This record gives sequence, structure tokens and C-alpha cells, in this order.
Amino acid sequence: MALDQETLNQLLDTVARFVRDRLVPLEHQVAEDDAIPPHIVDEMRNLGLFGLSIPDEYGGLGLTMAEEVQVAFELGQTSPAFRSLIGTNNGIGSQGLVIDGTEAQKRHYLPKLATGEIISAFALTEPEAGSDAGSLRTSARRDGDHYVLNGTKRFITNAPHAGLFTVFARTDPASRDAKGVTAFLVEAGTPGVSVGPADRKMGQKGSHTADVVFQDARVPAANIIGGREGQGFRTAMKVLDRGRLHIGAVCVGVAERLIRDSLAYALDRQQFGQPIAEFQLVQAMLADSRTEAYAARCMVLETARQRDAGRDVGTEAACTKLFCSEMVGRVADRAVQIHGGAGYMAEYGVERFYRDVRLFRIYEGTSQIQQLVIARNMIRDAKGGR
Ligand SMILES: Cc1cc2nc3c(=O)[nH]c(=O)nc-3n(C[C@H](O)[C@H](O)[C@H](O)COP(=O)(O)OP(=O)(O)OC[C@H]3O[C@@H](n4cnc5c(N)ncnc54)[C@H](O)[C@@H]3O)c2cc1C
Repeated sequence: MALDQETLNQLLDTVARFVRDRLVPLEHQVAEDDAIPPHIVDEMRNLGLFGLSIPDEYGGLGLTMAEEVQVAFELGQTSPAFRSLIGTNNGIGSQGLVIDGTEAQKRHYLPKLATGEIISAFALTEPEAGSDAGSLRTSARRDGDHYVLNGTKRFITNAPHAGLFTVFARTDPASRDAKGVTAFLVEAGTPGVSVGPADRKMGQKGSHTADVVFQDARVPAANIIGGREGQGFRTAMKVLDRGRLHIGAVCVGVAERLIRDSLAYALDRQQFGQPIAEFQLVQAMLADSRTEAYAARCMVLETARQRDAGRDVGTEAACTKLFCSEMVGRVADRAVQIHGGAGYMAEYGVERFYRDVRLFRIYEGTSQIQQLVIARNMIRDAKGGR
């Protein structure tokens, strides 16, 4: 259920203040140390940030999609690594459970996810199955009232910190496609589950990914999300539809931050006897960025509103993720250009954002995969399937 406007405004103000006063000053340190200080994680817990999208009956804030994206606009105003930590509990790590879990599963895990007592991760990608996630090979063989999991998951965000993994594995060994895939809730610490060393990445330092390896890991059959085999890939796609909107909103937030910083720099920096903001070629860059960020914001809000109204937004969510992630790449590129040499130097932080935003075009479906989803749905609709 939607919050009343005043409560929502208070929440947005609180998050904006937390971002400005507590997170922005730490951006450089977090990137240098490749770690978020534990006291900041505690502050995030106290603000309820781990439970934004978890229904209130399980201890979360139960935000609607339209409300959640507004929070994400605020969280996007700082290094994406901060958002990444809470993002999996609110998004891909918990939503499979929220959308398709049984009541018993929800009661058992969601309250701990909502408070951030445990951090969750979404384990779909494998060394040989990225964009073609439906071809995944991790196997889950039934053995009495357990399943035995074997396989390797790759690039799993928050794996080194996770207490709970949503794992997609093949329960039908005869299948080769998405139909034989089942989603499991797997607790870290289950014998046979191990996490590899953290990957060394281009950006988003402070957020960590790693391999998750399953070697004869025994998982109770009761931990199949929704209790039924073969539904896992459908669950994954529902989770990603929602995740695409959240990522779109974060892209808008980062773009708005970069535009604000670029404008401030252009007003301050003098060349040829005047602020560079007076030069029309610089103005063009500012105006293009502002226009694109505004278009992206509108797409996110409209799609979120439609999703809350119960419409199928598969196409629109893919359009939003595609446009927003490509948009923030262009905005970051212009931000570097407007800052000139300073834009290339670590001290100013713009180059860090330039590297950080590159990821948005790759994960939760690359830009090419969004294009395929959009075109495939267009063709389906033209044939009268919708
Ligand atoms: C930092 C980071 C965090 C991540 N976090 C997670 C996570 O938490 N959980 C998780 O499960 N995964 C995660 N991933 C994995 C991510 O979702 C995949 O990397 C992504 O889906 C792409 O898969 P791939 O890397 O195997 O690339 P590939 O699928 O090999 O793609 C390589 C290139 O080929 C293109 N391509 C592939 N197929 C087609 C096609 N049919 N038509 C046109 N072009 C195509 C792609 O667009 C891309 O340009 C993360 C990745 C990174 C880098």
C-alpha cells in the first residue's frame, strides 16, 4: 500500500540528507579502501534501507515501485557501491522470495533481510551462461527430502557478505533450456557451498562480486521458492523486470549528480576571461545531459506507476533499463569533458563515476539483451499475443 505523501516526503528527505552528509564525504575513501565502513552499514540498517521493498508485514517499508524508484533517485546521488550493498536485499536477492515464495519461506527469511541482519545475493550467472542464462548447468539432483547442488556461479554481487543466496539450478537433467530450472534458497554456511576471492573490477570499488561454488551441497526440498520445480526461470525474469526499473532509477540519480557537479564546475572554471559555462559548446553538453536525464526520469516514473497499477511492463522496463543505462554513460562522458583535464584525475571523482556507471549497461541484462527483449515483445504483440 502506498505511503501518504507526507511520510514519503519525510523518507525522501531523510535519505537525501544521509546521502549528502554521510555518504558523499566517504566516496573517495570507500573507493581507496574497497570497503564500506561497518558503522555506515549500521546506519543504513537503522534507516531501514535494507527493507525498502520488503512488505511491511515482514518488517520492511513495503514501498510501491513508484516510491522505491524515488528513493533510488536519491541513493543514486553518490557512489553506486553504497546502493549495491542494500540493492540486493531490496532487489534481486529478495524479490524472488517476495514474489513467488511460500508463506513459510517469507516468514522465515524476509524479517532478517528487511533489517539487514542477513544480506542476500542472486546467483544466476555461470561461467558458460551469461546472457543465455536459461542454458545454466548448475545441477540439483533430488535425494530424499533434499536436493544435491553442483556447479559454479560467477560475478555474484555481495557473495562475500551474503547469508542467503537465491540459486538457480537445473532440476530436470534432460532439459537444456529455461524450463528445467528451479530457484532455491541456499544459506551460506551450508556444507559444500563456498565463495571464491572477491573479483578485481573496473569500478564500483566497495561493492564486491565473487564466484559461488556448490560441491554436493545438500539443500532441503522445502527451500524451493514457491515449492514447485521448473518455475525458477520465470521467477528470475519477474525479479529482473523489477530490477531493471530500480537500476534505471539509480542511473537517473547518478546522472543528476554528475550534471549538478558539471554545472558547478562550469560556472566556476574560467578560461578566455570568463566561466566556461558561458561557452555555447559547453552549454550544449549541459543541455543534452539535462534533457536526457529528464527523459529518463519520466520513463522510470511512468513505468513504475504502470507496474503498480498491475500492468505487464516487461517491454517498458527493458526500454527504461536500456535508455537509462546508455544515458548515464553519455552523461558521465560529457561530465569528464566539461571538467577537462580535471575530469581525468582521480582527485575530482568524475573519472570514478565514469568507470562506475559502465557496469549499468552490462548487468541485469546487457543493452543488447534489452534490445532483444523489446523487439521480441513488439513482434509478439504485433502477432496478437498481448
Ligand atoms: C559487477 C558485476 C556484478 C554482477 N552481479 C551479478 C549478480 O549479482 N548475479 C548474477 O547472477 N549475475 C551478476 N552479474 C553477471 C551479469 O548479469 C552478466 O555479466 C551479464 O548478464 C552478461 O553476461 P556475460 O558476462 O556472460 O556476457 P555474455 O553473455 O558472454 O555477452 C558478451 C557480449 O555478447 C552480447 N550478446 C550475448 N548474447 C547476445 C545475443 N543473443 N544477441 C546480441 N548480443 C549478444 C552481450 O550483449 C555482450 O555484449 C554481474 C556482472 C558484473 C560485471
